[in-house]
Amino acid sequence: MKCAGPIDVRDVDESSINIDPIQVGGRLTPEAMKAIIAYGDGYSICDNCRKPFRLDYIKTPPVDVFMRDLAAFLHMDVARVVPGARRGFQAVADTYVERGDPVLITALSHYTEVLAIESRGGLIREIPKTTENLITPDATAGKIEDVTRETGKTPSLIFIDHVDYQYGNLHPVREIIKAVHQYDIPVLLNGAYTAGIMEVDGKDLEADFIVGSGHKSMAAPAPSGVLAATAERGSEVFRTTSVKTDVTSRTFGIKEVEMMGCTLMGVTLVGMMASFPRVQERVRRWDQELANGNLVVDALKSIQGTEIRSEYPRKHTLTRVDTTKSFDIVAKNHKKRGYFFSSALKTKGIAGIIPGATQVWKFNTYGMTRAQAEHVASSFKEIAAENGLSVL
Ligand SMILES: *Cc1c(COP(=O)(O)O)cnc(C)c1O
Repeated sequence: MKCAGPIDVRDVDESSINIDPIQVGGRLTPEAMKAIIAYGDGYSICDNCRKPFRLDYIKTPPVDVFMRDLAAFLHMDVARVVPGARRGFQAVADTYVERGDPVLITALSHYTEVLAIESRGGLIREIPKTTENLITPDATAGKIEDVTRETGKTPSLIFIDHVDYQYGNLHPVREIIKAVHQYDIPVLLNGAYTAGIMEVDGKDLEADFIVGSGHKSMAAPAPSGVLAATAERGSEVFRTTSVKTDVTSRTFGIKEVEMMGCTLMGVTLVGMMASFPRVQERVRRWDQELANGNLVVDALKSIQGTEIRSEYPRKHTLTRVDTTKSFDIVAKNHKKRGYFFSSALKTKGIAGIIPGATQVWKFNTYGMTRAQAEHVASSFKEIAAENGLSVL
């Protein structure tokens, strides 16, 4: 079946249990699906835009209320929608990073943080991780000291990942932020894997900024995301235009420079808004999500030779697993080679693992029912047993 021309219908989430790490938290709610059909046209959000002509003032639909609700949801003073977490990083980097400024990220940071700093000509330095793949307050303070000695400047900004994309580990961000604030450096908390998935309280964590991803963790279409800030930092990153042009003497009202005036103008924003009530509710069921995740992780652990690379017990549903000494040994002698694994999973209705991967791979159980988690857990064990691996 085709959508149009050569474009296939996509039904991975209807036809299978998807465990793709980056996709599961972004899947749309039925409400978002309806909203995006109605708001598919370009600039559709602008129907009822009136003075002072800015996205966060639109009352129909209630974008103004949504922006305030978003800030409250993250326990921050002010929030704006952005086209992806990466554009949130960029707005903050644009505000604080000058050419040559040292900026800290972590050894587990996402490439988009690097690019946001690189585009400003900032000097990127990484906070090292422990052997358990965690970032600590001590390592953070140590790196600030090192970099200050190296460059003669304190870092102008620090990015900390709340849960990193490589291991899905939950870092002690409250303590890290406390350490950073001893040096008076603003902290951007990267909540791409947490905001919209679990409760995130920016006030308690004392974050200067929280960035979230709509299409990764808030059941919203891509590209969407949120940039939230404290009132003080918000006045810096959400500063308004002050330009008057020379020939026509035009001024541009209260357009926000880093937001390029307006950001999300149709499906993305309205999709995000339509899913938001369910997102607010689902973060309260995080313990059930963790229980499902641990069920699957325990099944994998029971397969001899399989090692969980993420912290254990799990504090997030994204997990990195090493099957070099289990499924990869099977792959060596299997006629389908490494493809046997993804192909066996497919037979059991499970999708989202990179075809051919049998060494180190990641999966995410977010959004499963208990029955689905049980099915995934027993499927891993069955595939192991069918291929001669011993299961405890
Ligand atoms: C996915 C991801 C991003 C990028 O998010 P976008 O919304 O696609 O820009 C940034 N950081 C981390 C840790 C991620 O996992």
